[in-house]
Amino acid sequence: MSKEFSRLILGIWRIGDWNMSPAEVAGLVEGCLELGIDTFDLADIYTGYQCEGLFGKALAANPDLKSKIRLISKCGIALVTEARPQHRVKHYNTSREHIVASAENSLRQMGVDKLDLLLIHRPDPLMDADEIAEAFGALKRAGKVDRFGVSNFLPHQFELLQSRLDEPLVANQVEVSLLHTDTLFDGTLDQCQRLHVAPQAWSPLGGGRLSNEPADTPLGQVLDRLGEELKLTREQLAIAWLLRHPAGIHPVLGTGKIERVRQLVAAQSIALDRQQWFELLEAAMGREMP
Ligand code: NAP
Repeated sequence: MSKEFSRLILGIWRIGDWNMSPAEVAGLVEGCLELGIDTFDLADIYTGYQCEGLFGKALAANPDLKSKIRLISKCGIALVTEARPQHRVKHYNTSREHIVASAENSLRQMGVDKLDLLLIHRPDPLMDADEIAEAFGALKRAGKVDRFGVSNFLPHQFELLQSRLDEPLVANQVEVSLLHTDTLFDGTLDQCQRLHVAPQAWSPLGGGRLSNEPADTPLGQVLDRLGEELKLTREQLAIAWLLRHPAGIHPVLGTGKIERVRQLVAAQSIALDRQQWFELLEAAMGREMP
């Protein structure tokens, strides 16, 4: 997958907080394209099921964008909200019917013919891998989704689903950052590397918490010292740290500000050396490597 999706991806989860007009969101998309980011990450449930519709309005404001961008969406979580009065309890739904209906609704909301990538948002304890395979097959045959992947899957869950599919899953979108290092050690990133599956890192800046990490914590201290030495911001260091991983992580950026995107794009030219990488990891974990 990594050849076709840009290395950095812009996440649209926070669009409801951006307070931007459709034309302004279209401007953000154009700005990203100029910076080499062509891939945008959404989900059916974001902003109380409103995110895809808001993004669709931006695409309607500049329809030329549709042929230039790659779209990721997700399905499988069912929220209790006014927009879904039939949901009594938050639950997961990876039935064939739900997956197909959700993907078709994503297309309608965004006003596009096809998703480039559809992810199962979270592992469903009632996941029937054969049923998901049927749903993926139906969407693929109808030309509605190009490729499929998962999000927040552990290796055994990934393997179960993959065992019933004709085509390889091409992505696992997981939480990984200097504030969340589990996937480095639980087999997730090892599996991605082994299978050449592109890991996507959600909340690569810890949802913004990294910027506010106190300067006197171990992580704050190392970020600020290395930042000074290398003339980099904390946020650039955090992205460079992810990019250094051999699995080929695609950070999914969450900012709505093009200047901040530009700064983070610049992190792609930074190659942290092994000791700098480990200094950050040890500070993140709050302990030395064994
Ligand atoms: P993030 O990049 O870790 O955090 C973005 C937040 O950091 C924004 O509120 C941004 O505010 C703030 N920020 C503060 N200083 C910044 C700086 N210098 N540069 C950049 N941002 C700065 O990512 P995220 O928004 O938490 O998540 C990114 C994407 O991951 C989402 O949009 C979504 O697509 C995806 N996601 C997926 C899952 C999943 O389960 N698969 C879960 C969560 C998120 P400003 O906007 O004001 O810059």
